[in-house]
Amino acid sequence: MDGRYGDGDGAERTTRRDDAVRAAVEQGLLGPGTPIVGLLDVTGIREATAELRAAFDAVTAPGTPVLHAFAVKATPLVPVLRLLRAEGIGAEVASPGELALARAAGVAPNRTVLDSPAKTPAELREALALGIAVNADNPQELARIDGLMRSATSRSPLGIRVNPQVGGGSIEATSTATTTSKFGVALRDEGAREWVVRAYADRPWLTRLHAHTGSQGIPLSLMVRGAAEAYALAEEINRRLGRPQIDTLDIGGGLPVNFGSDGTTPTYAQYARLLSEAVPGLFGGRYGLVTEFGRSLLAKHGTVVARVEYAKSAGGRPVAVTHAGVQVATRTVYAPGAWPLRIAAYDGKGRAKAGPAVVQDVAGPACFSGDLLAEGRALPLLEQGDYAAALDTGAYYFAHHYAYNSLARPGIYGFAPDGAGGIAFATVREPQSLDEIVAEAGGAHTDSLTTLRAPDHR
Ligand SMILES: *Cc1c(COP(=O)(O)O)cnc(C)c1O
Repeated sequence: MDGRYGDGDGAERTTRRDDAVRAAVEQGLLGPGTPIVGLLDVTGIREATAELRAAFDAVTAPGTPVLHAFAVKATPLVPVLRLLRAEGIGAEVASPGELALARAAGVAPNRTVLDSPAKTPAELREALALGIAVNADNPQELARIDGLMRSATSRSPLGIRVNPQVGGGSIEATSTATTTSKFGVALRDEGAREWVVRAYADRPWLTRLHAHTGSQGIPLSLMVRGAAEAYALAEEINRRLGRPQIDTLDIGGGLPVNFGSDGTTPTYAQYARLLSEAVPGLFGGRYGLVTEFGRSLLAKHGTVVARVEYAKSAGGRPVAVTHAGVQVATRTVYAPGAWPLRIAAYDGKGRAKAGPAVVQDVAGPACFSGDLLAEGRALPLLEQGDYAAALDTGAYYFAHHYAYNSLARPGIYGFAPDGAGGIAFATVREPQSLDEIVAEAGGAHTDSLTTLRAPDHR
């Protein structure tokens, strides 16, 4: 570990989290009537953004434009996007909803990148009108952009997303550079490389090239190969065109997160160094850079804390029935092998629980037997009124509510030192109310089906 950028074993993070859980109980954010919350460590998020910027600053030639665009899908919460914006981070969006969130957070169009595999003509038109960078996913999308470029001018930097087909990682669902991935132009398919070169030759306004090689489960070496392939293609295109038409490479996100401890491994510094050793030309100043990290910026700064409603035993195994399950940890519950989460035990006052490790299940509130946050996990025994915390859930977890059993979206609060030795909380998202649940379930249309009449044919 490089202590300058990482935080070693994450001991400070552990302390901040423990303090925040205790303060949440003391301040009544968490308790019998509010048995689940999501907490975000604002200090940790700020540190992560500083590490990201420093990592790339350390390897890029002075003056190289670098845009770190946060992949909004990882934590689609407006105050989070606003905090990141304040830390110099832009937004990578992949739907009209994500673009709306980035705009609500005040992220400037020239700090926003639109990637998605299914952009409608209206979305493309809006992005080009706003001047947002767009990476075309495929030839049909490029044809739509051609049409828009004929009828209007745009300040949008435009590029093509390629799939370097360097292979997948350990999790199929997050591997984007497999031979048959749905994303981008599959570069090794017959004729594809030539098509890409021609696409740039015919369109002087295509100035970017994009590759996002994968997410969690992808080894760094594979991410580096993906970026190296994109760089080689940009070099080839510029050489064959006899002009430096591609001026910016978007190398995507995907830095994996360590879900096994509070330490940060790998670090942005390690990745940037590896990239700069393997692909030095990427950092020499001839290309601007865009990155699109999501999970690695937020995951380790979020915690779901849920009250143990009941502690029981089945077949000789203790089972803690908590209020956090499939609705906040959907991937973990449905694919526990690929997405294991650490669980921390706190007592009823929110103090880290000590005691001998007991193998137990930590269950959620949903009505199906697989709704388990952790199965057969050795932890201090969770008892009624204790709290179970699902760690590293700041990305792709509590911000991605799954409405099974009409379980309410929990409130999300950011925390930071209050300057007087305590902890201050700020609301990021209110808990969902029962009225909202009813309204979102068609509550305004109660009689729409009972009053529906078949057309009268007489
Ligand atoms: C999901 C995604 C990202 C972010 O991936 P992380 O693993 O969260 O860093 C970046 N770029 C694109 C195009 C994506 O789809």
